[in-house]
Amino acid sequence: MKTAIVTGAGGFIGSHFIQFLKSKNYHVIGIDTHAPEFSKSVADRFITADLRKESNTRRFIKGAHELYMFAADMGGAGYIYSSRANIAKNNVLINTNTLEAARTNGVRNIFFASTACVYPLSKQHVLSSYALKEDDALPAEPDSMYGWEKLFTEQLCASYSQEYKLRIHIGRFHNVYGPECTYDGGKEKSSAALCRKIALAKNGGEVEVWGDGKQIRSYCYIDDCCEGIFRLTNTTYLRPVNLGSSKSISLDELALLISKIAKKTIILSHERSAPQGVRARNSDNTLIKKLLGWEPKTSLETGLKRTYAWIERRVGKK
Ligand code: NAD
Repeated sequence: MKTAIVTGAGGFIGSHFIQFLKSKNYHVIGIDTHAPEFSKSVADRFITADLRKESNTRRFIKGAHELYMFAADMGGAGYIYSSRANIAKNNVLINTNTLEAARTNGVRNIFFASTACVYPLSKQHVLSSYALKEDDALPAEPDSMYGWEKLFTEQLCASYSQEYKLRIHIGRFHNVYGPECTYDGGKEKSSAALCRKIALAKNGGEVEVWGDGKQIRSYCYIDDCCEGIFRLTNTTYLRPVNLGSSKSISLDELALLISKIAKKTIILSHERSAPQGVRARNSDNTLIKKLLGWEPKTSLETGLKRTYAWIERRVGKK
C-alpha cells in the first residue's frame, strides 16, 4: 500500500483529494491547521500543525511515497487583493519549509498546487477568451502577490527537482469549484459567491456581480481537478501544466446559468468598485491533452448543479 501526505488536508481541494486517494487504496496522512469544516476527514491520520514552522515540517513531512502540497493562505479576489503581504509571507514559509523537509526526509515524488494567477497582466488585458499557454507565464507580471509567490515556488520546485533529483509535478489550477468549497466569509471564489447570492435571492430579485460582469474566466470541477492531479503526478513531466477547463464564460453569463439551475429569474446589478481581477483568463489545454490524453470534462452545468444544490442546502441551514 502506498502512503501519501496531503497538506492543506482541511481545505476544499485537500479534503476532496484525500477521498480520491482513499478510493485508490492509499494510506493517507493529512496535515492542516484545522480539520475540514463541512465533513469529517477520511485521512487515516490527521495532524493539526502549522507548516509555517520549520520544526513541524521536519517532524511531519516524512515516511511517504508521495507528497501533495495544497496548504496555502488563499481565497477569492476579495481576499487576495487585500492581504498581499500576509499571503506572500505565509505561503513562502509553508512552501520553502515543506520542500526542504521533503528533501531532507527523502520524500521524492511531489505535487505542487500552483495557479492561473501566475500569468502576466499584459496577456489578460483584452476582453476576449484568450487561452493562456504554460510558456506565457514568463517574463513575469502577475497581478497579485499570491501569483508572484506561486511563480516563485514553481521556480523553487524546478530547482529542487534539478539539484536534488526530486520529482516535483506542478499543476496550474483555474478556478476549482464543487460541493464543500468556501462559499462565504470573505475567502469564497466567484462561482461559490454567486451560488450563495442566488440561493439567498428571491425569485425576481437583484443579484450583485463584482466588476462590470464582462470579465471572463473558466471553471474546473473538483472531480476533474483530483483526476488531473493524480494523472500528472504519475508522469515524468516536471514543468508547470495548466489544469483547468478550456471553456470560458463571463461572470454575467455564469450568474445567469446559476439562476437557470436555481429556477429563479434574477436582475443583475454591478458593483464596479469591487475587485474584479484581470479581464480575461482561460486555460489552453494543448499540453495536458498531449501529456495525459485527457483534460477536464465535467460540463459547467453539471458541476454547478451539484455545487448549487450543496450551497443552497448550506444557506438554508443558517
Ligand atoms: P483552501 O483554503 O480551502 O485550502 C487550503 C488549506 O491550507 C486550508 O485548509 C488552510 O487551513 C491550509 N493552510 C493554510 N495555512 C496553513 C499553514 N500555515 N499550515 C498548514 N495548513 C495551512 O484552498 P483550496 O481551494 O483547497 O486550494 C488548495 C490549493 O490549490 C492552494 O495551494 C491554492 O493556492 C491552490 N489553488 C486553488 C484554486 C481554487 O480555485 N480553489 C485555484 C488555484 C490554485
